[in-house]
Amino acid sequence: MKPYDIIIVGAGGAGMYAAMEALQTNPGLNIAVVSKVYPTRSHTSAAQGGVNAALANRHKDDTVELHIFDTIKGSDYLADQDAATLLCEMAPYVVREMENLGAPFSRLEDGTIAQRPFGGAQKYRCCYCADRTGHTLLQTLFEQCMRKGVKFFSEYYLLSIEHDGKTAQGIVVMNMQTGKIEAMPAKTVIIATGGYAKMYWQKSSNAAGSTGDGIAAALRAGLALEDMEFVQFHPTGLRKSGLLISEGARGEGGYLVNNKGERFMSRYAPEKMELGPRDLVSRSIEIEINEGRGFDSDAGQYMHLDLRHLGGALIKERLPQIRQLAIDFEGVDPIDEPIPIRPTAHYSMGGIDADINGATAIPGIYAAGECSCISVHGANRLGGNSLLEVLVFGKQAGHHAAVTASSLNPGAISTASVEKIQKEIEGYSHHDRTERYSDLREDLGKTLGANAGIYRTRKKLEKGVADIMEIKERFKKVHVKDASAVFNTNLFQVFELKNMIHLAETVARGALAREESRGSHSREDFPTRDDKKWHKHSIFHMNEAGEVIVSDKPVTMGKHELQERTY
Ligand SMILES: Cc1cc2nc3c(=O)[nH]c(=O)nc-3n(C[C@H](O)[C@H](O)[C@H](O)COP(=O)(O)OP(=O)(O)OC[C@H]3O[C@@H](n4cnc5c(N)ncnc54)[C@H](O)[C@@H]3O)c2cc1C
Repeated sequence: MKPYDIIIVGAGGAGMYAAMEALQTNPGLNIAVVSKVYPTRSHTSAAQGGVNAALANRHKDDTVELHIFDTIKGSDYLADQDAATLLCEMAPYVVREMENLGAPFSRLEDGTIAQRPFGGAQKYRCCYCADRTGHTLLQTLFEQCMRKGVKFFSEYYLLSIEHDGKTAQGIVVMNMQTGKIEAMPAKTVIIATGGYAKMYWQKSSNAAGSTGDGIAAALRAGLALEDMEFVQFHPTGLRKSGLLISEGARGEGGYLVNNKGERFMSRYAPEKMELGPRDLVSRSIEIEINEGRGFDSDAGQYMHLDLRHLGGALIKERLPQIRQLAIDFEGVDPIDEPIPIRPTAHYSMGGIDADINGATAIPGIYAAGECSCISVHGANRLGGNSLLEVLVFGKQAGHHAAVTASSLNPGAISTASVEKIQKEIEGYSHHDRTERYSDLREDLGKTLGANAGIYRTRKKLEKGVADIMEIKERFKKVHVKDASAVFNTNLFQVFELKNMIHLAETVARGALAREESRGSHSREDFPTRDDKKWHKHSIFHMNEAGEVIVSDKPVTMGKHELQERTY
């Protein structure tokens, strides 16, 4: 295959923005976008609530400075301040660019983009398209990529990222429709493969494919991962499925209510109430449930999200999707009844260590979107800042890869790399293998939920690490029964399982090492933030023996000093 100038792995918001931007920077480039699902099915399409930008359409006194401060405070001071500053400064530009490209934002009466309040923000800053914001942004980006002639390889599965230690060489993929393994050489590679919160199987808001594939491939390729222990639990997942009810529901005025009929957030965030940041609201729900103020059901304890007082007209206009989800998955129409909710694993703050240009330690390899850790979200992401990250850092990575591609030589991938992967895959079908994918998958999800969830302790995390190491060992005997070459879902699930096992180990080891509570990482045995010892990023590498090694690096500070975080 002829080498590409840029191969982008992932066709979500980050990947497609990167493709669009790279061609804007240099229209002559030869660019391919590789995706394991058809592009418009990427998880970005599930984003509901909106994207933050200090446009000051609703609150005239909103500013970029306030957005920067809210982001850094929301991160529990772990965000790199240069990255958070760039994120917020570019926000008005990228949102207006999406508007100019045709994204149909909801409007205020004066015709400007509508903005709603979102958790942890001082002003009404979240721009939205009803409660289908991600869907509309992704469709708009896809149209632009088609218009510019981007070549898509849909249903191609990333197996490895290749480099020679000095520059990128390309990737190795499987054509999912034929089972053929192919080397795709490239001068530059942008990883934009999304997050890993689906590893929390039982309760996760994520798409089935959010299994952290690109992050795990980067780890195995010797790249560093950052802050993997920080996993966000969104307060309002549907009780049975974990599917998301957007923060937009609380932004529009929804209440959280316990079995005593109390709006219990008055105890935990008296000022911001339901619009406290997600880590705080999720912990508050867990405390209410643990202290006996939850509702009982066969599907476990839950809380009420009450929207009835908003009225049918507003719900139908601004929250149509979440109304449908509540009807379809809980049999509850929010116009007439409260929605049963409880926290759900939602977002990965951690990811591939990259700088504000999306660059990793290997020249020519970039990361953008949820798979990256740049780090704008630190220990806790604010709602509406992830779609923003996808646009801003998709743009950054696309631009910088386009500039770099013209100075790099075409990559070459050795046949040995491809043969090694082929051999591993053939091994999965040996008859002496006895472990089933489904058992390992369930055990992994269960131990993560029980031992590396919202509340953590040394004891639980030691158990979590031990369980994950046992599952890693059992994985060596995993068996792929299906021998078919054509769309072998059994095989793809095994690839994903391997990735999740590797990333679960980083999450649990990072959480065990970090003896403090910060943002989403809440240690019952170390309940306070410890800036002296722990105001630093966690860094993860994999050594040649396949073991995960944890180290750290400093946080980039700016003008915002460390402060206590109250809401
Ligand atoms: C239900 C839900 C609602 C959300 N709502 C909001 C919101 O309102 N506001 C907000 O700011 N954020 C929201 N988020 C978060 C935000 O949507 C995501 O962080 C963001 O869309 C991720 O985009 P991405 O481009 O990084 O990755 P994704 O959109 O997840 O795309 C990943 C891409 O990588 C490809 N890929 C993955 N693995 C492989 C592989 N092995 N081989 C080939 N291709 C691969 C996939 O096919 C896909 O194209 C929400 C998230 C969820 C789950």
